[in-house]
Amino acid sequence: MRRAILGFAAAAPLVAIALWKISIPLAIGVVFVSHMLVLYPTLRARSRWLGPVVTNFATSQPELWLTIDDGPDLGDTEEILAILRRHGAKATFFVKGALAAARPELVRMIADEGHEIANHSHDHPSATFWCLPPGAIRREIDRCNDAIADILGAPPSRFRAPVGMKNLFVHPHLAARGMTLVAWSARGFDGVDGFDVDATTSRVLRDARPGAIVLLHQGVRGKDGSLASARCIERILEGLDARGLRCVIPPDASLS
Ligand SMILES: [Zn+2]
Repeated sequence: MRRAILGFAAAAPLVAIALWKISIPLAIGVVFVSHMLVLYPTLRARSRWLGPVVTNFATSQPELWLTIDDGPDLGDTEEILAILRRHGAKATFFVKGALAAARPELVRMIADEGHEIANHSHDHPSATFWCLPPGAIRREIDRCNDAIADILGAPPSRFRAPVGMKNLFVHPHLAARGMTLVAWSARGFDGVDGFDVDATTSRVLRDARPGAIVLLHQGVRGKDGSLASARCIERILEGLDARGLRCVIPPDASLS
């Protein structure tokens, strides 16, 4: 699929020139469609058109994968770790490299409790990551890997793009590093200050099922202005417990 899309995108200008004398709208249409075929999978976190993306994992057990993005946050990491401990839950923390480098003790604390530390880019350029050139993509991924390796002794093997948008340069670089791109199958839109804990909880629990990948965040304020991520994670874990769903970190072989 990737080869077909990129081949079409490369050929589209020539096709458009050839078509120009026959039909200008048709020529413009060809270029427009070729752009959309690249843009759509870039902006859609779960699209595999440009390369592999994990959105679920295979399991016969009542278990799912809890992922927590945007830390390590000074305000709530310890509280979240205590909540996970109380519920016997394991999670993957997709951390920002710059924050990890500034707060290595939090990274160690998370890893020491048996949770996974993964790469969520170095500076988390939410607005621009999707359109960064190859060199900048490489730097975002490698600098975060280096920050984590400096703290834990080894780089992570999993990556999540900022706001899930990954352009065509991301896949080859992850492949060269032996890394897996992870998206999600359940989310609660809890990544922006002012989020609604009730709405997030019910959205996530609605989509929670065996093999699901749940996207959550830390360090985010709720409607009342206070940090609400930990409270939200606890509510979700209570809901999962009630349904007998456990939170585990799935092995690579089960990812799909
Ligand atoms: Zn993020």
